[in-house]
Amino acid sequence: MGAETVGVPAVSEPEGLDELRRRAVAAGPPPVEGMVVCENLMRIHRSEGVEVQALQGLDLTVEDGELIAVVGASGSGKSTLLGILAGLDVPTAGSARVAGYDLLAMDKKERLAFRRRTVGFVWQQTARNLLPYLTAVENVMLPMGYARVPRRDRQRLAADLLGMLGIAHLAGRRPAEMSGGEQQRVAIAVANANSPALLLADEPTGELDSATSEEIFAALRSVNEELGVTVLIVTHDPMVAQEVRRTVRIRNGRTSTEVLRPERGEPGVEYAVLDRVGRLQLPQDFTEALGLSRRVRLALEEDHIGVWRAEGSEVRG
Ligand code: ADP
Ligand code: MG
Repeated sequence: MGAETVGVPAVSEPEGLDELRRRAVAAGPPPVEGMVVCENLMRIHRSEGVEVQALQGLDLTVEDGELIAVVGASGSGKSTLLGILAGLDVPTAGSARVAGYDLLAMDKKERLAFRRRTVGFVWQQTARNLLPYLTAVENVMLPMGYARVPRRDRQRLAADLLGMLGIAHLAGRRPAEMSGGEQQRVAIAVANANSPALLLADEPTGELDSATSEEIFAALRSVNEELGVTVLIVTHDPMVAQEVRRTVRIRNGRTSTEVLRPERGEPGVEYAVLDRVGRLQLPQDFTEALGLSRRVRLALEEDHIGVWRAEGSEVRG
């Protein structure tokens, strides 16, 4: 990896970045309670009479300006969640707000405007992010049209974005002339071209080796730190947890635990997630170790809560 992969401008920064920052701020109403607020979110897929509960009452809050990873096994509902937050899919029930917009209440026109101006998206499949017949700089300029960036500013802003991500040298290349990692970094520039309030990335390193993945995380971090964009990455790769300060784990369509680190790369503390009405999921290895099932007795102590096996529960088995 060269120094360019760090993505932090060393000397003076182009004024275009400032403009992108201002645009991001102007992109939507200020989030009152967090950039992302999901409460009891449900998404049931129905196909040919079969029901799949992809999200089963998920709670998630992401603060404005955060860089956060949501991890979970394949099939745990990660892509379903991102599709909803991106305004591409509509939840079955519950509530979801992004940058103050209510994702269940938007009509078709509002949803389109939301997709074009409020969110940016990076897909796992590198080929899905870029148009093959356009160069990198043309790919970045494309969403600027939908986001109403004046035509005369587009080329300069696109070049500044590529520069910030350390890939100015790719500006004139088409996707076929770039490596997978280079394509993903251009994809991150494309996803930021509309100065989104929230950047969503679905397994952005899924098709890349670990050294190249590092470059992708560096690029996502510079977007977060330099432009102030809130970044949410979903992945099945637990290694990603090292790259961010906060990791939320989803299991069976629900947030289960959360790891907070004082600094990226440092050891973190794992917390169980407590929802708004006080519900908590006990880890399966804990409940199995003590034979807890169906009901438990709770005891309020001075500084903790005790959870006890209910008397007589062993007898009934
Ligand atoms: P992940 O991204 O964590 O692998 P997904 O959100 O893609 O998980 O899927 C969660 C569950 O919902 C899986 O069981 C998947 O098969 C199902 N699912 C996802 N999309 C659809 C769909 N369009 N129709 C039916 N089932 C779906
Ligand atoms: Mg997925």
